[in-house]
Amino acid sequence: CGIVGYTGKRRVVPVLMEGLKRLEYRGYDSAGVVYLLDGNLVRYRCQGKLSGLETVVEAVLGVGSHTGLGHTRWATHGAPTEQNAHPHTDCSGRLVVVHNGIIENYHSLREELREKGHVFTSETDTEVLAHLIEQHLHDDLAEAVKTALRRVEGSYAIGVMSADHPGILVAARNHSPLVLGVDEDGSSFMASDIPALLPYTKQVIFLNDEEMAVLTDGGRRLYSLASGREIEREISVIDWSA
Ligand code: GLU
Repeated sequence: CGIVGYTGKRRVVPVLMEGLKRLEYRGYDSAGVVYLLDGNLVRYRCQGKLSGLETVVEAVLGVGSHTGLGHTRWATHGAPTEQNAHPHTDCSGRLVVVHNGIIENYHSLREELREKGHVFTSETDTEVLAHLIEQHLHDDLAEAVKTALRRVEGSYAIGVMSADHPGILVAARNHSPLVLGVDEDGSSFMASDIPALLPYTKQVIFLNDEEMAVLTDGGRRLYSLASGREIEREISVIDWSA
């Protein structure tokens, strides 16, 4: 299972597909990508091998989108179907989440959100994250993710994006791997593991458990999820070749 995300100057779909291929060794049963184009999210999901998703996205490899997320899923809650494949959206369809890990308290969160009128379209634990963030979203996406994650128990690496916050990706982790990459022009990647970043950069920033990052094409900021405070972290240079 794996996560890839990018926001910057590059065309995003090839970056996502290359990254997912380089994370295939982690195992998966379905895959998906989402990107922002002309103010809307465009999502493709596929059960089975990445080659299936490749066929589907072949026609959009060249689209002029510069912000997106990709995911390979190893199903824990809900069968490995297209419907359960990530990215998952909120009710508005304008916010998406990719997730690796397990949300332990998803059942009670889902019941609570259902009572508030949220409608769920998958059997996954992940989908509660999209709805929980939607519930807390006023204007600041990072603040909404931070507040939502205070309610979440379990393991996660997540990537979040919203059509109403163009150019921004939010990343967070707790007991699931996620690393950031710094592009040559200073813009940013996220990935479950370093091999997904190596075609583009050797400069990485390690995220620790209970940390969140807000990526824009101008740079990135890191925060502690426990205190909410901003964190300073050095860039590390990876000494391997792609
Ligand atoms: N628990 C989530 C699901 O079943 C994420 C699985 C994963 O780590 O890929 O959809």
